[in-house]
Amino acid sequence: MNKVSGKRILLVDDDRISLGFIAAYLRREGYEVDTSENGEIALEFLEENIPHLIICDVEMPVMGGKELRKSLRNNSKFRLIPFIFLSGKTDAHDIIEGLNLGVDDYVTKPVSHVELGARARATLERQALYEDLLNYDHLTGVLSRRNIESKLKDELVRVKRYGRPFSLIMVDIDHFKKINDRYGHLFGDLVLEKVAKNMSQKIRDVDYVGRMGGEEFVIGLPETPRQAAFEVAEKVRKSISEVTYEENPEVRVTISGGVSCAPDEGDQLNQLLEIADKKLYQAKGDGRNRIIDELTEPS
Ligand SMILES: [Mg+2]
Repeated sequence: MNKVSGKRILLVDDDRISLGFIAAYLRREGYEVDTSENGEIALEFLEENIPHLIICDVEMPVMGGKELRKSLRNNSKFRLIPFIFLSGKTDAHDIIEGLNLGVDDYVTKPVSHVELGARARATLERQALYEDLLNYDHLTGVLSRRNIESKLKDELVRVKRYGRPFSLIMVDIDHFKKINDRYGHLFGDLVLEKVAKNMSQKIRDVDYVGRMGGEEFVIGLPETPRQAAFEVAEKVRKSISEVTYEENPEVRVTISGGVSCAPDEGDQLNQLLEIADKKLYQAKGDGRNRIIDELTEPS
């Protein structure tokens, strides 16, 4: 087993014999393999399925590989799927024309299954590395902003469909600028790391945390009403306030937070973030080191 086994490969080739042999080999290597016999059938398949890699013959009836590649490349939903051409056309002109379509590799037939498997694996491993870079915050290891926003949006689709509650907590480290100014940015980074680690440990298994930027984090809590989210937030807040830092033993770091809940307070991500942010702002105004789940009316 390798670390990309279980990944889904779409194999497109009009030569059924070659298609069958390659598919069987890749399945033995641990991949899930789907097959299509031309570009048009592949496009239909892609309407419902997003594979991790497409391996595609160039010359096929109805819709050839180059035409398929062009249409995928112009579609934001598909353009990041790794793509390998597999072609009987071996002269430099054809290879260059293929590579100019922004593909990851161009393999000429006949190719050994072992070599094609190795090229597929190399491409999948590189893609997995890029996805890690995009999906995780490099300093703290929690979800990247892009990744958590996408998860939150998916969650809100489920809220709309099934009406189950979903809560989020917006968290900000108190006086972070002062910590940086007094102890330096390296220590500031260490604080970010420790706070993020602590949050990840104190939330429940189903919850997740992402870094929005600077010293601001968001925690997503599926199937969770506001009161229960508040309790999770309080646990996190208390735990972070007790963390000690060997480098500067006198330092205690605290957080402030605001909780918002769908569908009660909205079902759009922007709305929920804005409401949580208002409550966070109130937590700061009320003296920090606290979580606000309900705004007090201005008197
Ligand atoms: Mg062909």
